[in-house]
Amino acid sequence: MKQPINEMEITFKAISVNESFARACVAAFCVQAEPSLDEITDIKTAVSEAVTNSVVHAYPKKIGNVTITVHLFEDGVSIWVADKGIGITNIEKAREPFYTTKPNEERSGMGFTVMESFMDNTEVFVNENKGLTVKLEKFFKRNQFAASGGGFNA
Ligand code: ATP
Ligand code: MG
Repeated sequence: MKQPINEMEITFKAISVNESFARACVAAFCVQAEPSLDEITDIKTAVSEAVTNSVVHAYPKKIGNVTITVHLFEDGVSIWVADKGIGITNIEKAREPFYTTKPNEERSGMGFTVMESFMDNTEVFVNENKGLTVKLEKFFKRNQFAASGGGFNA
């Protein structure tokens, strides 16, 4: 991944109706780089988990916003999902499989684990002012293959 071929940013309210909006929006934006269907599905799943976390955990009192920034490359994508909510004190603990602070609300504590398994790189930062940013990166394998002149008929 070198220079982005395109960039975009969206901000929306942290409410559950926007979870499907966010994943559809990011997926539609990524299509221009021609990722595979599987890669698109992986991106949608990971974005969904990150946005759901902002909706469910970030704003226990007053609902705030979620901002998604996308840098699209010929061979991959970087996605930042950021909120200005309560953040996380122990990120390492929060990323452990089955760790949840909401076991009574049918949360399984698998959101970060899902992001990690569907993306090539997942990073979690506590924001300087307030809230959390999750960085999700995916490399498009098909394009790398094509760029190297590969292919069954080459
Ligand atoms: P699941 O995703 O399986 O429904 P979960 O959301 O509890 O359950 P994770 O997504 O792995 O599980 O998140 C683990 C924990 O990290 C959450 O229970 C919550 O305490 C904390 N967390 C995650 N995202 C945020 C966020 N944006 N703001 C504040 N806390 C968060
Ligand atoms: Mg979650």
